[in-house]
Amino acid sequence: MRISYSSVGTYQTCPLKYKFQHVDRIPEPKSKEAVFGTLVHAVMKYIHTPALLSPTIEQALDYFAKGWNSEVYEDEMEERAAFSQGVTILQNYLARTKPNDYTIVDLESRFAIEIGDEEHGKHIVSGIIDRIDRTADGYEIIDYKTTRKMPSQDKVDNDLQLSIYLKAFLVRYPKETEHLNKITVSLYYLKHGVKLSSVRTKEQLERVDQTFLDVIKAIEEEKFEPILSPLCDWCGYQKICPLWKHKFAETRKLETEEVKVAIGEYLDLKGKMSQEKQHLGKLQALILQYMEQEGVDRVFDEQGIIGKSLRKTYKYDEEKLRAILEPLDKWEAILKVDGIALRTILAVLPSPVKQSVEETKMLDKESVSLSVKKNKIEVDDELSL
Ligand code: SF4
Repeated sequence: MRISYSSVGTYQTCPLKYKFQHVDRIPEPKSKEAVFGTLVHAVMKYIHTPALLSPTIEQALDYFAKGWNSEVYEDEMEERAAFSQGVTILQNYLARTKPNDYTIVDLESRFAIEIGDEEHGKHIVSGIIDRIDRTADGYEIIDYKTTRKMPSQDKVDNDLQLSIYLKAFLVRYPKETEHLNKITVSLYYLKHGVKLSSVRTKEQLERVDQTFLDVIKAIEEEKFEPILSPLCDWCGYQKICPLWKHKFAETRKLETEEVKVAIGEYLDLKGKMSQEKQHLGKLQALILQYMEQEGVDRVFDEQGIIGKSLRKTYKYDEEKLRAILEPLDKWEAILKVDGIALRTILAVLPSPVKQSVEETKMLDKESVSLSVKKNKIEVDDELSL
């Protein structure tokens, strides 16, 4: 399979979005954020293209203005805000950066590298590296970001995009594999003027292939479940996505008046139930406190009796239990796979073992649940199929 880094990223964000984009090939209208980001990237390339004289701030702003696309903005105010943000980014960038101080090795460098092996299948991963610089004692691989949200250092240290860029770089310059600690990988957050940098170890790079192979395997197995996330706000497929399309009146086909009323009533009832649950908790605390003070275990009213009972849960001493049951050949029979414990262990297992464990997974029970998000209260109703 030939796959671009960005489509692997799309799959990790939301497998269904990947399907819409790359399997069904449904064109996605470009978001204003994407259009803005592409233009700022183009200006950065213009600024850093090696030349005798690097562009002045006026020239850079002129380049930015000429590439501006006003069609993606909803109104003039929104467009004006975005344009002035672009101008600020470039002014600030050029105020702290002198392009000629950098030794540029390549800009918007395209790559296509092989991952996998004969046994697991070979695949090609492609992408574009924004910038590669020669530094005093090594290299720096830079990816520009125009998003506002910045990741933690831990996320940068494990960022898949930077790792695959470094792998691509090493395919081009294999001798540099010996000097990994001298190659910096950086995410440059232009809106903040902050560069978050990291390095990679050999072991980290070895694990990258497995991540790509896992994604490719899931794609080949047609696993395309949607993932609800804040990124949905920027997704152009909301009108056909099962998690969102009901929001748009024109995409509702089978909704009858009865269903409409049911949805309204359900939300209403869940809200009341949640309020009552909270109220019930307060009453319970008050009554228990009263019982404690009075030294009684039951209280009486015309409507009935409320009794206090102590519920105890026990657990067994595993070692002692094992010592008793193993000689009777009954130990194995009581062992049951504990899903939570297994998930904890899985996280620290080597990838091939993890994969083997995953392959033993079978569907046990399927249930549908309705979740309600209302007034910051989330409640679940389990409906067994
Ligand atoms: S709207 Fe969200 S869940 Fe639906 S396809 Fe887009 S990213 Fe995925």
